[in-house]
Amino acid sequence: MSLEGQLALITGAGRGIGKTIALKLARSGADIAFTDLAPEIEGLSSEVEALGRKCWAYQVDVTQADLVEEMTRAILAETGRIDILVNNAGITQDNLMLRMRPEQWSKVIDVNLNGVFMVTRYVLKTMVRQRSGKIISISSVVGFSGNPGQVNYSSTKAALIGFTKSLAREVGQRGVTVNAVAPGFIDTAMTRALSDSQQEAILQQIPLNRMGNPEDIAHAVEFLASENAAYITGTILHVNGGMY
Ligand code: NDP
Repeated sequence: MSLEGQLALITGAGRGIGKTIALKLARSGADIAFTDLAPEIEGLSSEVEALGRKCWAYQVDVTQADLVEEMTRAILAETGRIDILVNNAGITQDNLMLRMRPEQWSKVIDVNLNGVFMVTRYVLKTMVRQRSGKIISISSVVGFSGNPGQVNYSSTKAALIGFTKSLAREVGQRGVTVNAVAPGFIDTAMTRALSDSQQEAILQQIPLNRMGNPEDIAHAVEFLASENAAYITGTILHVNGGMY
């Protein structure tokens, strides 16, 4: 699946699933631009450059409209195009509904949903002008199944389904496809924060009997970003070991 000559922007790619996606797309030939909050984001840049690809790192919070706009301008000044957008940045702030504080609700909505709106808003203009582009958002199995302690998080991940399906209908005629990947439980810092008993309970729900790894998600994103997925839009690809 060659992505030679394409520019992929991945949000929240300093670690975890986003980083693995960035390296996967780079191995397929794409140049990479990415955002992250952490100041030490050069690690991924050197790994991408070692693969012979260009890489631009931006310490940008996806909820900050002015920074997102500035970043999009900067990428376009460097490359002249954005072919692939992966909306990956996401956070959890879990609590049972009865204990959930309004700021826990708002923060998760802000990053996981408003952040996707913000970045897509600026990138879409370019894709529509190009008459081509692939937008892939990272949803979650819990957006479909629900999960106790995650009313905030699962609401955002369910909302991304509506976002994906609606936007796909808006921009299909402009040559832009819009899809989502819904991972199950993937072994990253996000799930390592769960207790042993929570992880054990999750494992029992997975027919393939293991947590997923970031590579499992990166394969799905690479496919949706490739020309092999040219006739797929408005679709949610479940990658969850059969748990849903
Ligand atoms: P991690 O917590 O390991 O990584 C999240 C990344 O997003 C970090 O690099 C983080 O930056 C970055 N980030 C967080 N907030 C912002 C922001 N406001 N602006 C820019 N970047 C930000 O999570 P995962 O890799 O596990 O998750 C990636 C995506 O996959 C998320 O959307 C998550 O909801 C989704 N997902 C994960 C699952 C799992 O089991 N792990 C299952 C289903 C979906 P920093 O390092 O600076 O904090």
